Amino acid sequence: MSYQVLARKWRPRSFAEMAGQEHVLRALVNGLDSGRLHHAYLFTGTRGVGKTTLARILAKCLNCEEGISSQPCGQCSACREISEGRFVDLIEVDAASRTKVEDTRDLLDNVQYAPTRGRYKVYLIDEIHMLSGHSFNALLKTLEEPPPHVKFLLATTDPQKIPVTILSRCLQFNLKRLPAVLIAEHLQHVLDQEGLSYEQPALATVAQAADGSMRDALSLLDQAIAFGSGEVREQETRSMLGSIGRDFLFDLLDCLAAEDGEAMLKVVGEMGAQAPDYSEALAELLTLLHTLALAQTIPSSVTEDVPQRERLLALAERLAPEDVQLFYQIALIGRRDLPLAPDPRIGFEMVLLRMLAFRPQSAAPSAPRVKASPQAQAPEPSRSPEKQAKAPMPAATPPPADAQQPVSAREAPAPVSQPVAQPAAAASADGAAWFDTIDTLALKGPARALAMQCEWVGYSGGKLRLRLDPNHQHLRNPALEQRLAKALGEHYGEDLQLEIEMRAPEGAIPAQLAEERAANRRQAAVETINQDPNVAAMRDTFGAEVINGSIEPID
Ligand SMILES: [Zn+2]
Repeated sequence: MSYQVLARKWRPRSFAEMAGQEHVLRALVNGLDSGRLHHAYLFTGTRGVGKTTLARILAKCLNCEEGISSQPCGQCSACREISEGRFVDLIEVDAASRTKVEDTRDLLDNVQYAPTRGRYKVYLIDEIHMLSGHSFNALLKTLEEPPPHVKFLLATTDPQKIPVTILSRCLQFNLKRLPAVLIAEHLQHVLDQEGLSYEQPALATVAQAADGSMRDALSLLDQAIAFGSGEVREQETRSMLGSIGRDFLFDLLDCLAAEDGEAMLKVVGEMGAQAPDYSEALAELLTLLHTLALAQTIPSSVTEDVPQRERLLALAERLAPEDVQLFYQIALIGRRDLPLAPDPRIGFEMVLLRMLAFRPQSAAPSAPRVKASPQAQAPEPSRSPEKQAKAPMPAATPPPADAQQPVSAREAPAPVSQPVAQPAAAASADGAAWFDTIDTLALKGPARALAMQCEWVGYSGGKLRLRLDPNHQHLRNPALEQRLAKALGEHYGEDLQLEIEMRAPEGAIPAQLAEERAANRRQAAVETINQDPNVAAMRDTFGAEVINGSIEPID
């Protein structure tokens, strides 16, 4: 008997044989068993997750001679012919190869005729999104008034491209990518049934490489069987897939944990002897780091059947969670930039060396602030560079104080009972000093808002004169002015009278100065960040970007 490929031989013939997709199966089974049938079903999902397989089983359910149910007999001629792909009333169309409107019209012209043998005429249209606009229109007409003896089973990898008018007339089922664990289980089942020997980790490797597709997994398994002359061994499966052994990856991470660069490069040398695919190696390293991060956060996620469980847990213990995050980020970007490296191995080595170089010192504080001083300094490793690059919190240096600025109470705080600033000195105060004075007053709310809008005029003979723009007349009221006068009196150490003249200010008022200062401080913070060597290093190494407007000076 000729060899039949596994994907074909082990194609599920009933819902019970399907691996995964329980959510879809439950809905279909309930519908079939309670006689609630729809005239059009749409199965969506990536390649190899079972869309057409499911549709064929459904066709059997609808046409089994034993009656409509979720468990077709599998013995009657209808069931057998559908399984063998030669049932006359199951019309399978691959829309990818048939998009012309005439073809679809031909197809749909026959819709009106009753089925030849079966209960229903079933149209299975795969890759439905590939139909042309005209073909969709022809299909829509049929879907609007479907003959009772017709069922449409549509499948697509790209439902976004299907017109809403079609979508709204279909019962839609979204098939998920299959988890690697489930694929590995199924592969094991198949191999057990086939009586072939295998090494457990090889199945996990194949399942991982299949990337959620059972069909891909089974054809990879076919290759692995051929490669290993009837046996599935890990070493051979790995070299077939061009993937390196997990042991190497564990060794590399052990070296990183021990900060042993020499040993690390030795491991890379041993790896090199296998001529691995370095991009694939980085992908596997990323997967391992992800598993490690999971193990650190949710230890119960490392179940008994996880390969090399002991080593994984030991490593999860040795590495700090932030190191794992950092390594992941470095590997991710390293993989992206690998094609730019003069040689893949050099690129791979640099990624590892970078992990070593950027590994945070254990003595470093857990969240170092970016240094405010813009002087050049050697880049220091930091614990969470990506975070800082997104939301830098520099301790920005405020703009230098005005040298001619008179001494204000802010710089020389003293008990309020003693005069702290001579009225004579204050009398010649400029706008900046007046602003500083306001800052030292215990003023809040509307009283402070009033002061901020007033320009300093002078202070003599117990009278403090201010100027207010007539546009701000609404800020004035006797109670507020009394509060302001009292606060100023306490500041200058004598009772004073407040006089506010209503005239447009001649110079800058405190409110404007406050705005200017804030803008200057922001600008200084931006410059500090832009000149900071740590930030520059993150930019170069991780492709980090400083998000505009995210820099806020802090005191
Ligand atoms: Zn049957």
